Amino acid sequence: MSQLLSTSIEYLKGVGSKRAEILASELGIRSYLGLLHHFPFRYEDRTKFYKISEVNGDLPYVQLVGEIIHVEEIGLKFKKRLVAKLKDETGTIELVWFKGVAYFAKNLKVGEKYVVFAKPNVFNSKINLVHPELETLIEFKNSVQSKLQAVYASTEKLAKFTLGSKNISRLLKTLLPQLKYKLEENIPSDIVADNNLLDRESAMFNIHFPTSVELLKRSIVRIKFEELFMIQLELLKLKLVNLEKSKGFVFGTIGEKFNSFYSNNLPFELTGAQKRVLKEIRIDLKRGKQMNRLLQGDVGSGKTIVALMSILMGLDNGFQAALMAPTEILATQHYEGLKELLQGMDIEVQLLTGSVKVKKRREIHAKLEDGTLDILIGTHALIEDKVKFKNLGIAVIDEQHRFGVAQRSKLYKKNTIPPHVLIMTATPIPRTLAMTLYGDLDVSVIDELPPGRKEIQTLHWFENRRLRLFGFMEAEIAKGRQIYIVYPLIEESEKLDYATLEEGYQHIFRRFPAPKYKVSIVHGKMKAAVKQFEMDRFVNGETNIMVSTTVIEVGVNVPNASIMVIESAERFGLSQLHQLRGRVGRGGEQSYCVLMTGNKLSSDGRLRMKTMTGTNDGFQIAEVDLKLRGPGDLRGTQQSGTPINLKLANLATDGELIERARKAAIGILKVDSNLALLKNRGLLAYLNDRNRGKTNWSSIS
Ligand code: ADP
Ligand code: MG
Repeated sequence: MSQLLSTSIEYLKGVGSKRAEILASELGIRSYLGLLHHFPFRYEDRTKFYKISEVNGDLPYVQLVGEIIHVEEIGLKFKKRLVAKLKDETGTIELVWFKGVAYFAKNLKVGEKYVVFAKPNVFNSKINLVHPELETLIEFKNSVQSKLQAVYASTEKLAKFTLGSKNISRLLKTLLPQLKYKLEENIPSDIVADNNLLDRESAMFNIHFPTSVELLKRSIVRIKFEELFMIQLELLKLKLVNLEKSKGFVFGTIGEKFNSFYSNNLPFELTGAQKRVLKEIRIDLKRGKQMNRLLQGDVGSGKTIVALMSILMGLDNGFQAALMAPTEILATQHYEGLKELLQGMDIEVQLLTGSVKVKKRREIHAKLEDGTLDILIGTHALIEDKVKFKNLGIAVIDEQHRFGVAQRSKLYKKNTIPPHVLIMTATPIPRTLAMTLYGDLDVSVIDELPPGRKEIQTLHWFENRRLRLFGFMEAEIAKGRQIYIVYPLIEESEKLDYATLEEGYQHIFRRFPAPKYKVSIVHGKMKAAVKQFEMDRFVNGETNIMVSTTVIEVGVNVPNASIMVIESAERFGLSQLHQLRGRVGRGGEQSYCVLMTGNKLSSDGRLRMKTMTGTNDGFQIAEVDLKLRGPGDLRGTQQSGTPINLKLANLATDGELIERARKAAIGILKVDSNLALLKNRGLLAYLNDRNRGKTNWSSIS
């Protein structure tokens, strides 16, 4: 960074030490650059004028032009105020001051034309303008100042120290002229040209003081691009650096276990996508670097078998493996599923969860340490410090969105060299977002469902179809099928949540009475053992209906289930609805998802139902979801190693820009990974300054 930009904000004229402190604590502004990058959150359009007759209390702001025809001081002492009358060809309006009465009384000129800007205020059912901004029409016409006025976010504390929006704008007005000709371009010139970007200086000047709407728009695009481009460069560089330094176990051979499983145990032909992903993983595992791969695949796309076959590659090379799932139910299902798949093979598999008894737990620990245990499946219990492996070579994390970066790194420490890590998720993330959130991971996608699946039919019904729903359920049960009914979780009130579920259960129980019908119930407040018992009954086909909260959301596999009823579906987010729907359609039968909602739906709610009935494609659903919710919610799922600090760019809506920025970043790193070329010099200087000590651009070649 140039000396100038790193200057402490304290030294800018009009700041000083006290306000510098406030700027730092409230807005994180410490340097000239910090202030320069403090962007407006909206603009007031000072190009538009209202007529006085058009002013009403609902307008956020109005700008008027008219003549002052009368000025008068009213009231005494503390109640004193100044009232002026402004007139145009449509009427008159009062301007009122409670402060600065003497000043305005002296300076306002009756008979002069003024431009007035203020928020309309309703007082005694009359509209007036309190403390308007004003200047004479002549001043207004002569002012070079932009007619699009930047508005900056403010807080009470800022305002108290005269650092409100207006004051910030004034500080920028002091700063910007000093930066003229000194804002070195930080995006290489070929990229600026290819993407038709505004130059850095113009963008920075126009974002704060737009000279036209057109230039403002181009400034915003330029700055967004810059933010995204810098992040992509850093993420991609991080990936390169990690690759260089992270040693990994070499799984050199495909051995007896993999081959024997492939020829004797694999119950179906792998899909093309599964084969492709296995090849990608195979390449990772033998190159001597640690694998960090994210495997995305819609619900039911068959990720488990890919995980298992990757694990077998580890076992064949003398390593142990771990498979971690977010819930006990899921871990248990994996355990049982894998045991069945591995039948007749000499492979020891164990399950470790919170409810495993001490004696068994000791046995597992011992076997892990002496190496007789090959595959350990479990919940978080598996990453506890006391769990020690003899030689962990590969770890699979299922449904990653419930695990954070911290947990991932705990896994890395389970061996002297970090084990390979495969993270599986059924939460589809739009490509552009994955590029940023998982920029430092490799991503594989299973984009093909196993053959023979019938597309799930999704219906959106209102309460008036409940009888029809029950009839439909009855008919499916008569065919031997099973049914899920899911109630929403109400976060604020577990009690209420339970009551809704309980009520629903009673209702179902009366409509589908024993002994003809059997109904299971599962909810979060049950003991693990009871939950498991109820779950097992449904999995084994002993019950017809499973009434539950969203505990069954993740991963549960009951191929005979053909209807998923989601109650109060409007209360669920799109990705959750999609996850729930994925519980059916896992066998060969036609399956259905029925979304039950109240009659009153918000426009978001309606869009969610429409999206669900319109498509089964998880990626399409994720796109809509992202647009509805915005990327804020995704912070918790962030897996990348670089903090993502975007001021203007929006991960939800700027997909196209993300693609372009990433492409540009890849283009540069391909030819010049250390940014040594002359044309990349401005960029190098910028990045090195921005990240003192973080990514070192010249340390590797
Ligand atoms: P998910 O990706 O949601 O974890 P699973 O791995 O649980 O999906 O697979 C869903 C179902 O599809 C399982 O019953 C599994 O046995 C089956 N399956 C997986 N791959 C294939 C395939 N290539 N052909 C047929 N069935 C498959
Ligand atoms: Mg799964």
